[in-house]
Amino acid sequence: MTSTTRSAATSTPSQSRRAAARPAPRAGRVDQAQMRSANMGLILRHLRAHGGRSRARLAAETGLSKATMSSLIGDLAERGLVREGQLDRAGTVGRPGLTVDLDGRRVCGVGVEINVDYISLAAVDLAGSVIRESATPIDVPRLSVEAVLDRVASLVNRMLDSIREAGLMVIGLTVSPPGVIDYDAGAVRFAPNLGWRSIPIVSELSHRIGPDAPPIHLENDAKLGAVAEYATHASDGVDDLLYLSGDVGVGAGIIAEGQLIRGWSGFSGEVGHLPLDPEGRQCGCGRTGCWETIVGLAAFLRLAASEDDEVHDPSRPLEDRLHTLHARADAGDERTLQALRTITDHLGRGLSILVDVLNPRVIVLGGYFAFFGDYLLEPLGAALEARRMDEGSGARLVVSRLGMSSTARGGAIVALETVFDDPTLVGTAHISPRG
Ligand SMILES: [Zn+2]
Repeated sequence: MTSTTRSAATSTPSQSRRAAARPAPRAGRVDQAQMRSANMGLILRHLRAHGGRSRARLAAETGLSKATMSSLIGDLAERGLVREGQLDRAGTVGRPGLTVDLDGRRVCGVGVEINVDYISLAAVDLAGSVIRESATPIDVPRLSVEAVLDRVASLVNRMLDSIREAGLMVIGLTVSPPGVIDYDAGAVRFAPNLGWRSIPIVSELSHRIGPDAPPIHLENDAKLGAVAEYATHASDGVDDLLYLSGDVGVGAGIIAEGQLIRGWSGFSGEVGHLPLDPEGRQCGCGRTGCWETIVGLAAFLRLAASEDDEVHDPSRPLEDRLHTLHARADAGDERTLQALRTITDHLGRGLSILVDVLNPRVIVLGGYFAFFGDYLLEPLGAALEARRMDEGSGARLVVSRLGMSSTARGGAIVALETVFDDPTLVGTAHISPRG
């Protein structure tokens, strides 16, 4: 199970592009059925990376024979994973064929983000469309772990019911808790901002969701954010991307040469705990002086408003509170503007270190940073530019296009990788979808 998740998240669109060059993706002795399913996965990835095209073009581009292609497309269509669409007139000599497209009507993946103050869910279909999305405010640190997981399970069940009623199969669920994950145990080892230690999330949630629970995997929020953002930037030829999550915790998701970087234990990207606060504030992780204590959401709220201010009220949706602060900045409120300047300075120092270490082509600011992109991007870009040693160390700074839902969407995309790895997991169309 765990190994599936790991290979899933690393199978980014760019990897698919590389895989597309190889007609037989699996080395060594493989039986016919394995070869067939691998080639079907190859076709699905090719369609995802390059869009719909004719059988003839698919055969030419993947190196599979036309006869094999026809048979595999037939199989994929019977499983409801592809369908024929328009006439494909590109790159063909003679009679144009019908395009084959990914079919989003049969399967989807679901992603769940458990954050300090909200639970966010997203379902993405095979064609990459977001078909369901929800965000619910919750004050996680004030609730017991059991109460939080009860809430998550009930939100998940509501979404699963609605997806299954629409006739789709849910292939998997990726849950993102804001902490360090023990992949083998399906547990959160340590979530500093929640005070959670060794919580077996996968088994606890499976039990609560019930017998119809799809397979559940865990992944870090910043890593999923990076996967979701990468899905939107890869078509621009970007293969090295740094995603910076901006919540109470701050973390990085690193895509290098098209691969999600995890480190040996999944600990990579814990940049919120870089020692960058000269005043050495206490951090939830047990250390002092961590970067997130001066750039995280709690730091921003503390700088921008006094304790009794409505923007500190956890029962209000975070987006509403951020809108309030954004409106104050727009109205020229000096305290809010000064808070943004301070955050920008601290962000610039940390980011310039990350740029030197990782050499990303694109840096995507997520979470609350994205909310204040119109205030942060320009001065931050100037700060990075001022420290740039050479053209080769330049990075394009952008804000997340996915807003607060990037983690949940990334989770849904990662869950779908199971289908790209083995399309035969989805039964043929005459067997009705599960549930
Ligand atoms: Zn820390």
